[in-house]
Amino acid sequence: MDIHGLQKLTLLDYPGKVACTVFLGGCDFRCPFCHNGELVAGPLPPPETDDKALLAFLNKRRGLLDGVCVTGGEPLLRPELPALLARIKELGFLVKVDTNGTHPDRLRALVERGLADYVAMDVKNGPTRYAETAGVEDLDLAPIRDSVSFLLSGAADYEFRTTVVREFHSEDDLRELGVWLAGAKRYFLQSFAERDTVLRPGLHPWGRAELEGFLALVRQYVPAAELRGV
Ligand code: SF4
Repeated sequence: MDIHGLQKLTLLDYPGKVACTVFLGGCDFRCPFCHNGELVAGPLPPPETDDKALLAFLNKRRGLLDGVCVTGGEPLLRPELPALLARIKELGFLVKVDTNGTHPDRLRALVERGLADYVAMDVKNGPTRYAETAGVEDLDLAPIRDSVSFLLSGAADYEFRTTVVREFHSEDDLRELGVWLAGAKRYFLQSFAERDTVLRPGLHPWGRAELEGFLALVRQYVPAAELRGV
């Protein structure tokens, strides 16, 4: 299995855990603000490593790392993912899976098989501007709604997160998000940050004051909401 990146140590990606992060190429969204443009658009770059080398690396990190974060791209697009996660779990690691929520059945299957200890789902926007924010014109929101409902049910430990971008998120959009995710256990608003690898250059973050205003608005529905990395 091709692996397009391996960050060998992170204290940030898995809340409260010392972890590494595995990047899998390919995504069914084209979020204009995506920072991993090389992993989603056009031909994928050559893989950095593969599953065998990853498992050998993890074998040597037993007792040193708590967990493994699997991100992308969209990891659930990869049919080999459950088998890889099963091997990682056999080595004794916790697993965190990042997803854009487009494959609720695969997500549910991972959780039901005990292969995902923590799920971080990007909720790109309120329903009105979701398609535009995900960069997919004829987006079917039903699978995304299904993933949100599954996580809200408490079937898995989870967080929702939204990257807030000036060009895509207004008060109305944040209000829609709050209503949709009402009662969520964890919800993080993250500020967009301009980088060279962004899919569509020229986007802008909101300032801290506006983000705090959005947070106050969202907290009317999701009291546990927080700003992250602001
Ligand atoms: S931000 Fe996430 S969901 Fe959006 S294109 Fe990038 S990898 Fe895919």
